[in-house]
Amino acid sequence: MDRQATVYQPARGGSYLTVDFDLTPFTVAWEITRACALACVHCRAMAIPRRDPRELSTEEGFRVIDQIVEIGRPILVVTGGDPMMRRDVYDLLAYAVSRDLRVALSPSATALVTRRALEKVKNTGIHMIHVSLDGSEPSVHDAFRGVSGSYARTVQILKDVVDLGIPLQVGTTVSRRNVHDLPRIAERVSELGVTVWNVFFLVPTGRGQIADLISPEEHERVLNWLFDLSKTVPFHVRTTAAQHYRRVVIQRTQAGRHGGEAPSGATAYVTGAGYSFRMGEGPVGRGVNDGNGFCFISHIGDVYPSGFLQLSAGNVRDQSLVELYRSSSLFRALRDPSLLKGKCGNCEFRSVCGGSRARAYYLTGDYLESDPSCVYQPRASQP
Ligand code: SF4
Repeated sequence: MDRQATVYQPARGGSYLTVDFDLTPFTVAWEITRACALACVHCRAMAIPRRDPRELSTEEGFRVIDQIVEIGRPILVVTGGDPMMRRDVYDLLAYAVSRDLRVALSPSATALVTRRALEKVKNTGIHMIHVSLDGSEPSVHDAFRGVSGSYARTVQILKDVVDLGIPLQVGTTVSRRNVHDLPRIAERVSELGVTVWNVFFLVPTGRGQIADLISPEEHERVLNWLFDLSKTVPFHVRTTAAQHYRRVVIQRTQAGRHGGEAPSGATAYVTGAGYSFRMGEGPVGRGVNDGNGFCFISHIGDVYPSGFLQLSAGNVRDQSLVELYRSSSLFRALRDPSLLKGKCGNCEFRSVCGGSRARAYYLTGDYLESDPSCVYQPRASQP
């Protein structure tokens, strides 16, 4: 198992190899509010300045956490909007930790994230904090975030989190606006003592615009660059909404260069954040994708396959999360690679990759269609 796989493990010692995604997601993200003081140009949530009166209450939140325990104790990511806009955020975090969940918090970089607030967050016992950094300097980052001074505040928060000894994940959303700046952002990430760099690839939902998407060729170039970078830097490199990074990793490993077979004939694994690929018995693999090892609970309790694929399977106020994740037709379809269409449906990497179902949906109108951001030609369709 590689370094990335050691960072996120579900409670009770599970791993990608032991979690059955038909029964238990690897990760659940819960948007506890959509309220946020920022106005980011790519905001998935279309965040709003004030809290929605329909938000799940504190008591309802505790019951959601109970359901997350019941479904098999996946990793819980508490997100928003800005989760710090809820005064009960500390109670929700502490309760989730008390139920033996591994919990990460994703606050927005606003004046609410003081050193004192971070100390209170640390005292809840959470396992990681995620903070976004979309540029190596104020001109790029502040333009992304829609608020002047956001870069300086973000860097201060990053330093405070590291100083308090809380494992830190930095997230960067790649788009036309900052793709040129990635090497310098990586330098900042390295300087700051970050544990994980999670590189998000834009999905044109919420305020995200199709015009800001990088091309399929640029995706390929950036994914290969990330693979090279991951071998030299002191932090772990992860990707989000770039399932084809797994294909790149597999192709670039020694076993991958031998056509999906381990060179010695022995079984070998390529395992990273949210995927595992077995060599030696053909290209067998599995990977987290929207609705497949992942689900998202909105601020009003709707259950989506991910924050980027905002199609509701139902609401936790009416049905249990367990039932919606395991049995809804939407989630079941997303877990069946034989239903994939086009190039992704023909691809030998479809189980471990499968393409971004969210990007496919927003660019083609069909969540089972091919992910248009991938340049790969599956073997089955090669001349
Ligand atoms: S064609 Fe689809 S399944 Fe194959 S590598 Fe590309 S995105 Fe992944």
